[in-house]
Amino acid sequence: MAASPSSTQNSVYRFVSNDLTLRIAAVDATEVVRQMQALQKTLPLATLGVGRAMVGAILLAAQLKEGQEVGLLFRGNGPLGTIYAEASSDGAVRGYCPEPLYQAPNAADAMNLGQAMGHGTLSVVRHQPFQRQPFHARGGFGAHAGTVAMVSGEVGDDIAHYLHQSHQIRSVVSLGVYLDVFGQARAAGGVMIEVMPGVEEEVVDLLQKNAAQATTPVSKRLLEGASPEDLIADYLRGIPVTRIPHQAQIRYHCPCTLDRVKRALTTLGTGGLAEMVEENHAAQITCQVCGRQYQLEISELTALLQEVRRNSLH
Ligand SMILES: [Zn+2]
Repeated sequence: MAASPSSTQNSVYRFVSNDLTLRIAAVDATEVVRQMQALQKTLPLATLGVGRAMVGAILLAAQLKEGQEVGLLFRGNGPLGTIYAEASSDGAVRGYCPEPLYQAPNAADAMNLGQAMGHGTLSVVRHQPFQRQPFHARGGFGAHAGTVAMVSGEVGDDIAHYLHQSHQIRSVVSLGVYLDVFGQARAAGGVMIEVMPGVEEEVVDLLQKNAAQATTPVSKRLLEGASPEDLIADYLRGIPVTRIPHQAQIRYHCPCTLDRVKRALTTLGTGGLAEMVEENHAAQITCQVCGRQYQLEISELTALLQEVRRNSLH
């Protein structure tokens, strides 16, 4: 049963199985992924990667306590390379990729996210508000990160692998972004079902059987008007569940400040700084995550450029 879009958009749906061994979250994140795409002008591969990572972060954050956050940093050796997303329990989410315009050299790989990401790692930080240092100078997130190898670079599989490796939680993670022929995101969302220890194996069997039958991608289901509740129903046939009230409204939110944007620049690269200094114009720097612009005097800009160059030497 499809509910009206206004009631399903922007909320995370949470459920628990009546035997308390499955915890379930689903979301229609179409609006926030479209916002990210509009702000960052991402081409298809970056839209898929960042969009799926945002959906994954939203679903992980739905299980956190109030005020907590989760961040995902994918780092591969492929040309798309890095994807980053974070979400908080209250529904704020943002995502970013340093190569928004990357396109595969062959048309056949135009949507091959795994290939564009290459081999690498997924780091997950829970609880720590890590926007202070999203990209640590030495790489990694610091002591609180759980890092696992990426299994496919397709995001959903990698998150499931992380849950298993780091938390001994088996899961079904299905994340999707539907792109139209112009590469515009038309639907995005996903389902995450976590299997707690002590589960009856027949529940797991049923879940696996349902998952095997859910062959229509979640993004296509959403495009066709399915609600998050409908997505969950596909996976939980024969398994009684109860909805858990969850108030968080999903919204694209970037808690940037001038200091944080400057710090991000000093670790991420010059981002056109040298040009601005050469042309000697008092500059704006733009937060690449949300597009907010900050004014900088030429003296500040020069100092920043020197810092970036110093950092790039080691
Ligand atoms: Zn920002």
